[in-house]
Amino acid sequence: RAKAKLRGSVSLYEPEMDRQIRDRRVLHQDLSAAIKNGELSLHYQPQANGCSRVGSEDFVGFEALARWFHPTRGFVPPSDFIPLAEESGLIVEMGEWILREACQEAASWSKPLQIAVNLSPAQFLNSDLVSAVHGILLETGLKPSRLELEITEGVLIEDFDRGLSLLRRLTGLGVRISMDDFGSGYSSLTYLQAFPFDKIKIDRAFVMNLGHNPQSAAIVRAVIGLGHGLGVSIVAEGVETQQQLDFLVAEGCDAVQGYFIGKPAPIEQYARLVGLSGPRLAISRAS
Ligand code: C2E
Ligand code: MG
Ligand code: MG
Ligand code: MG
Repeated sequence: RAKAKLRGSVSLYEPEMDRQIRDRRVLHQDLSAAIKNGELSLHYQPQANGCSRVGSEDFVGFEALARWFHPTRGFVPPSDFIPLAEESGLIVEMGEWILREACQEAASWSKPLQIAVNLSPAQFLNSDLVSAVHGILLETGLKPSRLELEITEGVLIEDFDRGLSLLRRLTGLGVRISMDDFGSGYSSLTYLQAFPFDKIKIDRAFVMNLGHNPQSAAIVRAVIGLGHGLGVSIVAEGVETQQQLDFLVAEGCDAVQGYFIGKPAPIEQYARLVGLSGPRLAISRAS
């Protein structure tokens, strides 16, 4: 009887699994065409200095976030296509496109704001990363200190020594390094001690619970204290309410990012903030 039941449940799942595998294969083929078909783009989300009423003078930079508009599926979220690109090795090519696009964009602004770009583990551990970053900086003319590379601690877990030596070579180029999603993984204080990150981004999960969960408040407060003790600046991600912002500012958080400050959007939406003008903007407005 148990066997029959088991067989029954297996056959129930099979078509669904087949469909998912087929689906992924198709999506993967589509993804490899996406770059050259111009389906990838970047949205930009602002970061502001920590202050209770954020004015336009408080914006300090933007994070570039990849977007894929599939011709028939519509919007595919990065949480779906970045892992797919990682598995297939496409991430290296895609990551270079993203980096070049973001640097080119930031180099065209009249205000020298920071531009943050996410690096995925596979991209980070690729041996050509340092020369790719170097080449793109030269090509776009972006001042290295304006570029921030966001990495997650996962990349250091995989190969600590190699990760550390890569980080040193990258900072040798003059770029900044941020630790993204701090607290969400196997956060180890060893990493913070071994490598002087320029920024630590507190994971959205803790910020989200500020106000309902005293543990989250304690963690956020402790991370801010830890960062400052190490001379690292702290950015809070996912700030959605005035209450969260007030708490973070009161605790001395250096910078904030989240829907309450501004949503990720095409750069035209932030044209005034970055001092974007000229033909490129005129074209995008006209179209
Ligand atoms: P992340 O780097 O931690 O980026 C922040 C994510 O939080 C973004 O999601 C952003 O849209 C979202 N977010 C920002 N503020 C708020 C808020 O107030 N509330 C909520 N609920 N969400 C907020 P997104 O764009 O879907 O990206 C998800 C993740 O995908 C990113 O997390 C990053 O790990 C990865 N990703 C995105 N773009 C790239 C890229 O160009 N390269 C690589 N390697 N990874 C990327
Ligand atoms: Mg990020
Ligand atoms: Mg993050
Ligand atoms: Mg993330």
